[in-house]
Amino acid sequence: MSNTEAAPDEVLCETGPADDVEVLEPRDVPLGGPRAMTVRRTLPQRQRSLVGAWCFLDHYGPDDVAETGGMVVPPHPHTGLQTVSWLFSGTIEHRDSAGFHALVQPGELNLMTAGSGVSHSERSTAGTTVLHGAQLWVALPEHAREVERTFEHYAPPVVEDDEGRWRAQVFLGSLLGSSSPVETHTPLLGAELALEPGAELVLDVDPTFELAVLVDSGSVSVHGRRVEKDELAYVAPGRDVLRLATSEPTRLLVLGGPPFGEQIVMWWNFVGRTHEDVVAYRERWHAEIAAGGGPAYGLPDGDPDPPLPAPELPNARIKPRT
Ligand code: MN
Repeated sequence: MSNTEAAPDEVLCETGPADDVEVLEPRDVPLGGPRAMTVRRTLPQRQRSLVGAWCFLDHYGPDDVAETGGMVVPPHPHTGLQTVSWLFSGTIEHRDSAGFHALVQPGELNLMTAGSGVSHSERSTAGTTVLHGAQLWVALPEHAREVERTFEHYAPPVVEDDEGRWRAQVFLGSLLGSSSPVETHTPLLGAELALEPGAELVLDVDPTFELAVLVDSGSVSVHGRRVEKDELAYVAPGRDVLRLATSEPTRLLVLGGPPFGEQIVMWWNFVGRTHEDVVAYRERWHAEIAAGGGPAYGLPDGDPDPPLPAPELPNARIKPRT
């Protein structure tokens, strides 16, 4: 049987050595809206869908909000995941159907757990001139994917080298002797690191974890492999240290966790296990929009905009990712 695509993509299928460091390029995705703020997406992509339970990684800015219009995302639903908002500059106003209304600030973790369903809105505030940060999603494992919706906030302390060569904030998991108190449903690591020129770090890490290093500014060597700004380095499990070095001022995020080990189906804002899950999540959302609310997702109180309908489903069945 032949592939009926008119212009099939070339897919490189190869398996590197277990200790390989892989560098993934971002792709630009417009978030929509009249002036369409653009994000750089490094997960999921063709060669890799997940790093631990991290299943989605959007990185944006620094954007001049006067030009891009900033972030304006009316109420929309999520299932089966947690959203992590991490800002470098600017402020985002968050409202959700679990009843939380929060201002997301730089250097502070804001973690929303969708569980079986939540809806929320996100808008950069009127006082924000430069918007710069990351929006990350964590897939919930089978035993926790229908937990109750909730929202948590944590401002991690800054840990610093005595000689000022690096500073870090650990928002999930443990690194550099700093541990986040935020409980997760699978083991996770999430941290921001700022490195000065000449910094060389050998970080103790859990060898069962796979790791990702997202470079926000500058550039870094990861186990000797050069990683440029906006790129994501993937490090396979099996190493008990992570080696970072740089010759310029660099800011990066380190993310990780043990390989997720479950197949997921991801479409729009939903994480499920099957195509049928996604069809049901979408129908339920449209029913609640029509009814002005309901038990499956609910709607945030006091939101100025109507909720966003889901796009049309693709004709083909949505394939699971691992
Ligand atoms: Mn969202």
